[in-house]
This record gives sequence, C-alpha cells and structure tokens, in this order.
Amino acid sequence: MVAAAAEARARLGYVTRIVIIGGGPGGYEAALVAAQLGAEVTVVDRDGLGGASVLTDCVPSKTLIATAEVMTSFGSSYEELGIIVEDGTPDPDNPARVVGVDLGKVNRRVKRLALAQSHDITAAVTRAGARVLRGRGRLEPGQASDGTRQVVVETAGGEEERLTADAVLIATGGKPRELPDARPDGERILNWTQVYDLEEQPEELIVVGSGVTGAEFAGAYQALGSRVTLVSSRERVLPGEDPDAAVVLEDVFRRRGMNVMSRSRAASAKRVGDRVEVTLSDGRVITGSHCLMAVGAVPNTSGIGLEEAGVTLKDSGHIRTDRVSRTSAPGVYAAGDCTGVFALASVAAMQGRIAMYHFLGETVAPLDLKTVSANVFTDPEIATVGYTQADVDAGRIDARAVKLPLLRNARAKMQGVRDGFVKLFCRPGTGIVVGGVVVAPRASELIHPISIAVDNNLTVEQIANTFTVYPSLSGSIGEVARQLQTRKAAEGG
Ligand SMILES: Cc1cc2nc3c(=O)[nH]c(=O)nc-3n(C[C@H](O)[C@H](O)[C@H](O)COP(=O)(O)OP(=O)(O)OC[C@H]3O[C@@H](n4cnc5c(N)ncnc54)[C@H](O)[C@@H]3O)c2cc1C
Repeated sequence: MVAAAAEARARLGYVTRIVIIGGGPGGYEAALVAAQLGAEVTVVDRDGLGGASVLTDCVPSKTLIATAEVMTSFGSSYEELGIIVEDGTPDPDNPARVVGVDLGKVNRRVKRLALAQSHDITAAVTRAGARVLRGRGRLEPGQASDGTRQVVVETAGGEEERLTADAVLIATGGKPRELPDARPDGERILNWTQVYDLEEQPEELIVVGSGVTGAEFAGAYQALGSRVTLVSSRERVLPGEDPDAAVVLEDVFRRRGMNVMSRSRAASAKRVGDRVEVTLSDGRVITGSHCLMAVGAVPNTSGIGLEEAGVTLKDSGHIRTDRVSRTSAPGVYAAGDCTGVFALASVAAMQGRIAMYHFLGETVAPLDLKTVSANVFTDPEIATVGYTQADVDAGRIDARAVKLPLLRNARAKMQGVRDGFVKLFCRPGTGIVVGGVVVAPRASELIHPISIAVDNNLTVEQIANTFTVYPSLSGSIGEVARQLQTRKAAEGG
C-alpha cells in the first residue's frame, strides 16, 4: 500500500513538500511515514533528532531508572530469597543498601545511550529519504494562493534558509515549567534535564512535585542511595493516577524511608552555600543538599509565528488540534506535547503519523485516547489502559471493577513481591473489558494483554478462558477476569 502510493506519486511526477518543525517522536515518526508515502520531507530540529524525549526526558530517565530498578529489587528481596551479601552486615540505618552506585558512571551511560539513540533515529529518517536540518524553525504568517506556506530556519551555522511547504507539522514539544522564585541553577537546584550532569550522589534530595515525573525521580534517587523528601501539593502522590495505585506507591515510598510531605506547596527554593532551602507556602522551611523541580511542563509555542499564521492556541499555550491533528490554520498540523493532548511519546508519534496520513490522503483513523496505555516507571510500576476509576466514579461509563492483590499470586510469593494488584473494568451487561490497572514489577510489560482486550472489545470470558503460564504474574489477569465473570453471572448479566 505504502510502496504503491509512493510509486503512484512518482508516476504522476507530483511531489508533496512537508516541513516538520521539531524532531521528537511527534516529528520524526511523521517524517518516516511521509517519506515512505513519497513526500519530500524536511525535519528541522534545533537539538537533535529524538527530541527532548530521547535527549533529556523519556530515554534518559528510563535509563537511570534501569539502575535504580536493580537496586530496589535486590535490596527489597535479597534477605527473603536467601542471598548473603559480601560483608554480611547491611547498614542498620538503611538495610536495603548492600552495594553502592557510581552516579557519575550511571549518568555517563545515560548520556551515551541518549546520543546513540538520537544518531540511530537520524540515520533511519535519512535512510527513509527525509532531509534533516539542524536549526530553529519559525512559520511565516501568510499562505500563498497555491496553498503553500513558508518556514524560515535559522540554521546551526547561523544562516537563514527558507523552505516552501505544502503542509507544515509543528512538533516542538515542551520544556520544564519554572516557578519564579525557584529558578534552577544547574548545580543544586535542578530541573529534570540537568540531573544527568551530576557526578556525585545527592545526599538529601528534595523533589518538588509528585506527578509522574516527580514520583519517578523520587523513587529512583531513593533507590540509588539519596535521602529523599517528596513535596506534594496534593493529598496524595500521583493525583492523576488510579487512587488505589497511588496509595500502594505512597506506602512503599514511606516504608523505604522517603519523607512524603502531602498538602505541602513549595513557594520558593534558594541556594544557601552548599545547601538548598525550600520554603513552603505555609512558611515551613525544609533543607537538603539538592532540589529537583518537577512542577510540570510548558509548550514550546511562543516566538515561532504560530498565532500570526492563524494557529489558535489554548490559554495554556498549547496548540488547539482536532482528532486528525489539524490546527485552525489550513495546511498546518500539530502533534505531541505542544498540543497538550497527552504527554506521552507514543501519543505524540500517533498524532504525527495521523497528520501525515490525513494530509497525504491515506486512510486514517482519528486519534482515540481511550485505548492509550501508559506507565509510571516507579517500583512497583503502575500501568494503565482505557477507562479509569475516575471515569467510573464520575459516571462517564457504567463499569464493574474487580481488584486482586498480587499477594495471592504464587509467582509473586516466590519472588518476594508483596506490593501491587491487577484491576479490571468491564461493562456490566456484555462483560466487555474497557480498562485496567496493573501495579507490579514490570507492569509496563503486563498491561499489554489488557490493552489488546480494550482495543478489540474482548470480554472477561475471553480473558478468563485464555491459558496463562503457571506460575506467572499474568495469571492474576486471568484470575481477576474469572472473578468479574462470576460476579456478572451472579448479577444475571
Ligand atoms: C522526565 C520525563 C520522562 C518521560 N518519560 C516518558 C515515558 O517513559 N514514556 C512516554 O511515553 N513519555 C514519557 N515522557 C513524555 C515524552 O517525553 C513526551 O511526551 C515526548 O517527548 C513528546 O514528544 P514531542 O515530539 O511532542 O516533543 P519533544 O520530544 O519535546 O521534541 C521536540 C523537539 O522540537 C525541538 N524544537 C522546539 N522548538 C523548535 C524550533 N522552533 N525549531 C526547531 N526545533 C524545535 C526541540 O528542541 C525538541 O528536539 C516523559 C517526559 C518527561 C519530562
């Protein structure tokens, strides 16, 4: 199909010119699709392909967490599993710490992997036939009578290049939000893009913000050996996630010695010598050796000519798009974090691909957020798909839910896994699975069968009747489906 479309365009001698501003997952995935469909594609990026996702956000954080994961799974179960550590005497203040971490070495590995990934993506995009241009792109205001638009690029070499496009995709992502009185200095007050320059382990790390990013870093640094205080403005950590999952994680954090401060809003952070002082809005002051600000992100949408070109922005600064990634300006599409639809690399990539399919006249299914699966990379991980507890509680869908703790799972017992559960949501009459939550080690891998069920309208009967390996954590997915099936039968559904 793809090859046929490209051949058809080549036969007609007609080439569509696509310019993509921003080379993160939203931009580079779109470039691959558009090039395969025979378009002439230029991707403009100022930092390197892969974008913030690969260079500073998703890939580096998950590489750091890979080290943290080894530390926690070893530290939390070695005694129970009968493993003897070399000196036989764990630190009584911190019994889980049996070995240390060389943070400088970890961070050098993080940066090496990120750069290698960026090079691999550049090679793949170039191989697909797209041009990669290093520089800062900006949209010119007008649209020519033939529908084309102009993008001006300040190249890395300091020159200006003007590109003509039949369609433009804006995929400029976002950057860390800053509080006016807590500006990062890159040494002790840090945002999440700066932590990989640390050579020494922070002794006492204050993490401000308990959303996904704050929780992931707090858990990781705790595992790597820092004493961590997590400052959460809300009642509990991870306010946007399944409440049962958030309770499990907060319990685990506290049990491992993290100081979780709920209903505590940070007003400012400042350097005092080699220390950092964080002042809360109620006047309390907490101190640490370092502070990581994780208070959300803002979109990269200013100063690039968007509004002048007729692109409508939301109050938050995000670009308004429809479900096929069109903006309010004809011929201008947008994808990824700059749209504020769902801050996930997978969603950015999907939005970018949809934009290209739509503009290039291919069959396209509009973006469906009900089947997005997502994961919080803490220990345990929290993976979710489909409708949520909040949707059920707010009456947005009528669904039954059953939650099964992992404590009852044979494999979990063997592995010394205590924390976690599997929860499934299904429609009352039909038993169609509409959502799920897995809290477990590697929940990101376990959620996939539930994602397949949600995406394909499978029923709890179908999941219940599918073999699972014994013993396995995924056995709990089958078991929870059987419980829903029994409940449905009891209700006469
Ligand atoms: C700490 C952290 C961890 C995360 N972990 C995950 C995860 O595990 N899984 C997941 O799915 N998502 C994760 N995310 C979210 C994910 O990183 C984003 O959703 C994803 O990066 C969005 O991709 P994007 O294409 O919109 O933009 P980005 O990846 O932000 O890329 C945008 C690119 O555009 C460039 N750019 C901006 N303006 C211009 C301009 N004017 N001209 C040229 N180039 C420009 C930028 O330099 C950048 O290279 C994480 C986010 C954070 C902060």
